[in-house]
Amino acid sequence: MSYAENKPLQIAIDGPAGAGKSSVAKVLARRLGCIYLDTGAMYRAVTWLALQKQVAFDDMDGIKDLLQTIELEFKDVDGMQHLYCNGTDVTEAIRTPEISANVSAVSMIPQVREAMTAQQQKIAAGSDVLMDGRDIGTTVLPNARYKFFLTASLEERARRRALELEQKGIAVDMEQLIADIALRDKKDSEREVSPLKQAEDAVLIDTSSLTFDEVVENLFMRIKK
Ligand code: C5P
Repeated sequence: MSYAENKPLQIAIDGPAGAGKSSVAKVLARRLGCIYLDTGAMYRAVTWLALQKQVAFDDMDGIKDLLQTIELEFKDVDGMQHLYCNGTDVTEAIRTPEISANVSAVSMIPQVREAMTAQQQKIAAGSDVLMDGRDIGTTVLPNARYKFFLTASLEERARRRALELEQKGIAVDMEQLIADIALRDKKDSEREVSPLKQAEDAVLIDTSSLTFDEVVENLFMRIKK
């Protein structure tokens, strides 16, 4: 533990899709020497498994069975964090437009949230941790020492996501991407359990006109202070 108080350090970064949370969180966690937990990847992996096993999202018995047997493990592979779902490396598979289009329908299922939240809290209990997601500051780590809510205009978030997808060789229709992101944010914000929401005590940072390095530095300085 790297801080004065004798409790694990908890840092929460929430925000809408494409606000740059994960890229910022990865670099920041490395600089601070704490574990980085990409909670969105966990919801994506549950979605991937449900699609693989052809479990309908409204088949509650099927979803419960999935949750009972799912094993999610983050492992370091050549300095990069990979996610394994029941032993399969799903790092790439969970980033496809198909998963992005379906993940909100899975993440709104209360049993799924309960199971993921429990795993996330278990990890945070034992180590200094930086988590990014939608409900970290409000639900998963309500007592986190630092809470941030990163956002950016819809167009800027879509532009960044398009760059990421293009780098992976995935063709992008910009108008469609903007519509998809807006729809995902709407579903994530309007769901009943733990919606996407800024915690009252979170610092709001609009990254629309900031560079990546400026965002990292901004958060780092606030934590170091
Ligand atoms: O962060 P990312 O865009 O990969 O998250 C994918 C999806 O996972 C979100 O759109 C949301 O539906 C869900 N999610 C969530 N709670 C979190 C993190 C992600 O509901 N803490």
